[in-house]
Amino acid sequence: MKKFLALSLIAVMTAGVLAGCSSKTEEKPADEKKEETTDGETTADGETYIVATDTVFPPFEFTDANGDFVGIDVDIINAIAEDQGITIDLQSLGFDAALLAVQSGQADGIIAGCSITDERKETFDFSEPYYTADVTVAVAADSDIKSFEDLAGKKVAVKTATNGADFAKSIADQYGFTVVEFKDSPTMYQDVIAGNTAACFEDYPVMAYNIQQGAALVIPDGMLGAGSDYGFAVAKGENAELLEKFNAGLENIKANGKFDEIVDKYTK
Ligand code: GLN
Repeated sequence: MKKFLALSLIAVMTAGVLAGCSSKTEEKPADEKKEETTDGETTADGETYIVATDTVFPPFEFTDANGDFVGIDVDIINAIAEDQGITIDLQSLGFDAALLAVQSGQADGIIAGCSITDERKETFDFSEPYYTADVTVAVAADSDIKSFEDLAGKKVAVKTATNGADFAKSIADQYGFTVVEFKDSPTMYQDVIAGNTAACFEDYPVMAYNIQQGAALVIPDGMLGAGSDYGFAVAKGENAELLEKFNAGLENIKANGKFDEIVDKYTK
């Protein structure tokens, strides 16, 4: 009886191992299928690429009064897609999520006012730069904070995974403030307006645009972080052809005036 049990246990285990093996071999057809599509006729009509972006980061990406998802990044990627004969499936995921989507291969690229940084270059390949922005501090309209020294003992708000967050963290000990993270820009601004946090760190053009649109915040003079260039990015070593198309398209829309037209539309 014992022997029988032991034997059937072996049988079950063997079946398990076999099942494990067979599930591995199932990967093969998927690989072959992938190769077929790459070698196949898909290029004739142009490829579809998934590009991830932020949710609310005006004037780069935001939903306008008509409910349309618009902005400098949105228009740039669409103009480049048209120029290069490719189709873009733009997915508004949030900044942190968009970076992760590209890293995990769920998206082919990111356009999200994404700063080209040395740290990110370890995991992303960037396009040519298309915009330059400083990081700035913004405070509630009635705040008396005028310098980094005034942040001593206070809490400040940052957006997860941004270079504004990195900048805030890099000077937090020096000025004696603590950093609180938020997932998106509007929630971060609201926290400062509500008085929970004393200040937030945001890209200057985005902060200025929001204030112009009525956000109850002000930008104190001289509370700036280092400037950075925005670039389109793909996962390192992946999607080189998409990066090439972006760069080629960017060059074309700069040459034909379309790029300036887009930037002017949202900033003038
Ligand atoms: N430019 C900043 C960064 O790349 C913020 C981008 C964003 O919040 N969409 O980190």
